[in-house]
Amino acid sequence: MYELTDLPPPVDWPSVIASLSQIVGLEHVLSDAADLDRYSADALTPYRAYYADAAFDRLADVIARPGDTEQVSRIVALAQQRGIPVIPYGGGTGVMGGILPVAGGIILDLGRLNRLLHVDAVSQTAEVEAGMILQDLYDALEPYGLMPGHDPYSVPIASVAGTISTNGVGYRAAAYGPMGDQVVALEVVLPDGRIIKTRGVPKQSSGPNLNHLFIGAEGAFGIITKATVRVFRRPEAASFATMEFAEFEDGFAAVSEMAALGIRPTLLDLTEDSEGVLLHLLFEGYREGVDAALERTLAVCDDAGGWNVGPEPTLVYWRHRHDSALNYRKTALGRPRAEKWQRQWGRTFDYLHMSLPADRVLEYRRRADELLEARKIRVVEYCLWSRPEFFSMMVVPDGDRRVEGRDGYDADVRTNLAAGVDEVLTLAQDMGGIMEYCHGVGIKLHHLLARELGVNRDALLSIKRALDPAGIMNPGKLAL
Ligand SMILES: Cc1cc2nc3c(=O)[nH]c(=O)nc-3n(C[C@H](O)[C@H](O)[C@H](O)COP(=O)(O)OP(=O)(O)OC[C@H]3O[C@@H](n4cnc5c(N)ncnc54)[C@H](O)[C@@H]3O)c2cc1C
Repeated sequence: MYELTDLPPPVDWPSVIASLSQIVGLEHVLSDAADLDRYSADALTPYRAYYADAAFDRLADVIARPGDTEQVSRIVALAQQRGIPVIPYGGGTGVMGGILPVAGGIILDLGRLNRLLHVDAVSQTAEVEAGMILQDLYDALEPYGLMPGHDPYSVPIASVAGTISTNGVGYRAAAYGPMGDQVVALEVVLPDGRIIKTRGVPKQSSGPNLNHLFIGAEGAFGIITKATVRVFRRPEAASFATMEFAEFEDGFAAVSEMAALGIRPTLLDLTEDSEGVLLHLLFEGYREGVDAALERTLAVCDDAGGWNVGPEPTLVYWRHRHDSALNYRKTALGRPRAEKWQRQWGRTFDYLHMSLPADRVLEYRRRADELLEARKIRVVEYCLWSRPEFFSMMVVPDGDRRVEGRDGYDADVRTNLAAGVDEVLTLAQDMGGIMEYCHGVGIKLHHLLARELGVNRDALLSIKRALDPAGIMNPGKLAL
């Protein structure tokens, strides 16, 4: 079961709401039941929250929509003074329940901080406000002939700071790395309201780089208000290729060899499903580089027993890469929780994203298969996304059927799925890996994080207590 954190002391909400209204303006403070409901869940449904579904019992007490860093700072200082939890909210598209207000409090919607502030084509950086949606950033950079390096399925709906705070992975990660790698500098409001800024240079040797305290931190150490991110020249050449393999192991050998040679495609996705084993590749950049990388890759894949099925399957895949997010925007984003959760009915599956040392991935797959088979859980897709260490599985419980009711699930099927998921995630930990490379921990994986961190958690706890002694920043997250 998910342990709710200690309940905060009684709060004089009318007076807090009056103070918030003074800071951000009356129209940017929301406290209607309908608003509290729709803001108090992201894309995680109770079905897939497994052991943490009690976390959905609590709603936010109020929503505040600040318009600048100063307002964020004043709200956080107010919250600190009154001992009220503050939960930063970007696009609200997380799939782990990172924005769930498990102890109530103020949800801080950063959506009004949505401007591109500065583009530096020479340094190849852009300074952006935290709440800017990635698609808007792509669009705003287009006139400069530039683009960001992070391209997840959720480009149309996820925010810059939300993707930094989950250290998300996208379709261009094989070349550019995850969102955390895009961060050059940050402006952050600390839990006591102080504003810190790191410097806009790509590397430092003058002490530890504080950016890393906030990348993948799910808002537990402070609120990102601005980010300077890497941007890239729009490629002059692009070549798609699709390779087919008889076995996943053959594709894995090709991907490992490419990594060892230093071939960096933009897109690398080795997927096995009912259609077979396909390696989707895209090379982008300057013409000669693209041609050379493609030519050598075809030879590597040929050596590994693969054959070229032409660019078309990958072109189609590329064209449709944001469809799920466009559909999410149309049917779920900003809707009441009950409507969001209805989408899950009859679609009981889970999508797991483990990272392991590359030399253990194939052994991990075999052992995970055995565990899942014993529970009659089928794997309908295996995938390596962007690098050999990033291994994903889509799992579906046998006996899956729709049941009417609050969450629309069969309790036994769900209990079995939850146990199977925990078994394979802890197997990844026990084999020297981690349970999630992409979406964060949120409430869903909270119960397994202390196990993964071990004594490292003590170091994180010390930092948390020093920066946030009252524990107001997104409480109940990151096992802190
Ligand atoms: C259809 C769909 C497709 C998806 N595809 C992908 C994918 O391809 N790759 C991927 O990585 N993820 C994907 N996701 C998950 C989700 O889009 C990502 O986790 C994304 O990074 C979250 O961004 P957000 O702005 O919605 O963050 P939110 O959900 O609002 O927040 C995520 C976490 O970050 C914290 N946070 C938000 N803003 C700030 C801030 N300013 N300062 C500090 N902390 C903050 C929140 O408190 C929370 O803990 C997908 C989700 C959906 C619904």
